[in-house]
Amino acid sequence: MSPSPTVDLRSDTVTKPGEAMLAAMAAAPVGDDVYGEDPTVEQLQDVVADLLGHEAGLFTPTGSMANLIAVRCHVPPGQELLCDASAHIVRAELGAHATLGGVTTRTWASSGAAAAATGESPGPGNQSGPGQQSGSGQLPGQLRADDVMAMVSPHSSPYLVGTACIATENTHNFAGGTVQDLHELQRLADLADRAGVPIHMDGARLWNATAASDATLADFARTATSVQVCLSKGLGAPVGSVLVGPADFIEQARAWRKRFGGGMRQVGVLAAAGLYAIEHHQEDLATDHARAKLLAERCLDAAPGSVFCESVQTNMVMVRVPDADVMVSRCAQAGVAVWAPDKHTIRLVTHRDLTGECVERAADVLCTLLADMR
Ligand SMILES: *Cc1c(COP(=O)(O)O)cnc(C)c1O
Repeated sequence: MSPSPTVDLRSDTVTKPGEAMLAAMAAAPVGDDVYGEDPTVEQLQDVVADLLGHEAGLFTPTGSMANLIAVRCHVPPGQELLCDASAHIVRAELGAHATLGGVTTRTWASSGAAAAATGESPGPGNQSGPGQQSGSGQLPGQLRADDVMAMVSPHSSPYLVGTACIATENTHNFAGGTVQDLHELQRLADLADRAGVPIHMDGARLWNATAASDATLADFARTATSVQVCLSKGLGAPVGSVLVGPADFIEQARAWRKRFGGGMRQVGVLAAAGLYAIEHHQEDLATDHARAKLLAERCLDAAPGSVFCESVQTNMVMVRVPDADVMVSRCAQAGVAVWAPDKHTIRLVTHRDLTGECVERAADVLCTLLADMR
């Protein structure tokens, strides 16, 4: 008997295009998109802008480039972007905003996510973890509009750097895929607008946020001046993001995309995969979310205190372990690939290329190893 293939829970970016998506890509009408002549790219940009309730859209090769372009448009060199200390923008984009945009950043600490960033895994076993935050009803990674606004300093002086933009993240990746509270986002939008500071939303997994709540994509997206959404995460397209915003902002973003080397030609073949994913894969996200909950409950059973189940709202599970490196290698030996965001946490991400059987097998492996490690 051949060994079962590895169950890959490292990320939802590992999904591969299926036959129907490949057929849609092969059939896509294309043109030179630098001239604005690719009909499939135009269609994708319009579809996403409509879904998000914004005027215009721009297709980009990656979410990182969409964030880079948006922040570069909002923030002049030498001014600042405010964001969460665990935001993808400051932790996982390799200093791009400083290196390529001259942007300085200042961060707020959100509950749980900040703990994860310092190696203190969020969880009820941790004194400073979200288990202790139940009084305020705050999940890891959720922002508080008042905390953010307290940091805003919009007018630069000879002494102080000026705040030119605020970045929000929904869902919050390093906090374990938690959904931002819509009411709090709306409050922030209102206060920031009065202060004259635009908001950019990193909505890499906004599709998941919507699937996990009553709010629509547009409800969330209208709380920001610009929003980027990834097609290459849970939706399962091989590549691409769309940045949306006001028409004049997107025109400026188009120039920055070219400047950063992201002007692409007959790229409708990739946009077609995104359109296919939006049309056919969105409703499957609920399955990913149910499977993440199942993994969370099984892990919690095997190792009480290892998971804060309330924060498992979408397709991620953060599991507290005594030694994350050891756990990652033991999982790998048992045919389950996981990632360790810090030395006491492993992250499990569910996605559309898993079967129910894969998830059960991974749960069995995790339970055995977690029980062993205690
Ligand atoms: C994945 C991700 C991005 C960047 O997307 P890439 O296409 O990998 O560059 C940005 N923000 C968040 C929160 C992400 O999870």
